[in-house]
Amino acid sequence: MQMMMEYPQYRMLEGSETLYAIEGPRHAIEFQPLGSNQWMMHAHFASDYPRFVWMQELLLKAAQARAVSKEEFVDLVNAREVHEPLACLGRFNASEAHEALRFETNVELQALTTFGVSSISRHHVLVGSDEDIREALKAAKQNDWEVLIVGGGSNVLMHSDWEGLTLQQGIKGIQVLSDDGNRVEVLVGAGESWHDWVLHAVEQGWNGIENLALIPGSVGASPMQNIGAYGVEVKDCFLWLEAVHQQTGELRRFDHNACEFGYRESIFKQREKDEWVIVRVAFVLERNAPLRMEYGAIQSELKHLQHHEIAHKNVMEAVMRIRRSKLPDPALMGNAGSFFKNPILDERAFEAVLSNHPEVVHYTLEDGTFKLAAGWLIEQAGWKGQRRGNCGVHERQALVLVNYGGASGQEIWQLALDIIEDVKVKFGVELQPEVNQIRTS
Ligand SMILES: Cc1cc2nc3c(=O)[nH]c(=O)nc-3n(C[C@H](O)[C@H](O)[C@H](O)COP(=O)(O)OP(=O)(O)OC[C@H]3O[C@@H](n4cnc5c(N)ncnc54)[C@H](O)[C@@H]3O)c2cc1C
Repeated sequence: MQMMMEYPQYRMLEGSETLYAIEGPRHAIEFQPLGSNQWMMHAHFASDYPRFVWMQELLLKAAQARAVSKEEFVDLVNAREVHEPLACLGRFNASEAHEALRFETNVELQALTTFGVSSISRHHVLVGSDEDIREALKAAKQNDWEVLIVGGGSNVLMHSDWEGLTLQQGIKGIQVLSDDGNRVEVLVGAGESWHDWVLHAVEQGWNGIENLALIPGSVGASPMQNIGAYGVEVKDCFLWLEAVHQQTGELRRFDHNACEFGYRESIFKQREKDEWVIVRVAFVLERNAPLRMEYGAIQSELKHLQHHEIAHKNVMEAVMRIRRSKLPDPALMGNAGSFFKNPILDERAFEAVLSNHPEVVHYTLEDGTFKLAAGWLIEQAGWKGQRRGNCGVHERQALVLVNYGGASGQEIWQLALDIIEDVKVKFGVELQPEVNQIRTS
């Protein structure tokens, strides 16, 4: 029964005027009367069993709480002012009129994705709140539209037009949850730009993500593939995220374990693929975070400084300079960063590669497996700098496929398939794409 219930559910506590918007089996926003004309808002997250039972009782036991319709709920909330609205829950600040969603038709996604291939989305909507998302998902259900979430479009290759609904994530906001002078917990809206968030954090002295500067895309997509660069991954400073279920509208909190992070992986690319819309991400950063300078390129960028002179901001700026010199700017040449993941092999498979190619570039991982440099494999196979029609392999970075202008998704994908096949024949290693391949089913 719980699984089939649609969220949010609205309740009024019997014998009192307290209202609850229940957003999932473990989430509720409480509106508690404060005097005669104000509400005090509280966000409840039932992380332990007693609170879970309490929330279930609110949901399921009519004797304790009466179900109210959304319209009645909104009217009741509107009848009073909200005293100090919760920043991250501003959508329930009833004084702000909720603007109707604007569904557009036949929207060209070319400019919304960094590969820049042409793809028409039959229906498109920009969402700015959880409520918007639920409304958009409801419309998709009613009209039988398949849903595609779009952030910054920097990790997708559109294979064709999108026959359903593209839902563009626009939830904004940065809110400090706690700060003990060193450790800072910060909640960030999924629609914020990842790089702008990194700049903001480093500016505030909140450190830990400076090595991830200049990665394109949105904050909401960052846990999807556990973005990583220069020795740091998003999982290293991740606290939790909240996501809305595409079918039920339930809001759920995923902690670190629940996300099942791996190398360019998370549960959202695997078991729970296409199930959730990530709406906000909480990070934990530290003013005294250690500097991450294991990469030789960072060290040589900063060699003019004494170690004690190096601040997190210097590391960030070094990373930005390195990235600008190595990677094509999507504004000038369409691409989605590394097209392939670095293959990870067990000892037996690795020995097989090594016996034929003793020079293979690789790293030994802590768990005894071996990560091969996909860029090296592609370069050795002779693909670096190769152009085919309107697309090709970047001349300085063999991992990056580029659109010189006018390439179709199919054209780029065929190039990728040929590279995969060739590397398999030459090295016995099967490359996997890192970029999400998008096809309407
Ligand atoms: C030049 C360049 C360099 C790059 N460098 C790196 C790098 O160093 N390291 C790295 O890890 N990546 C890198 N990338 C890849 C990319 O920037 C990241 O994967 C980024 O996190 C994608 O974010 P996005 O918002 O653009 O996601 P999109 O491309 O919009 O979406 C990616 C996938 O996530 C889904 N999605 C997006 N937002 C949400 C959401 N809120 N809820 C649920 N699903 C969602 C989409 O449906 C899609 O399947 C690079 C890309 C480029 C173009």
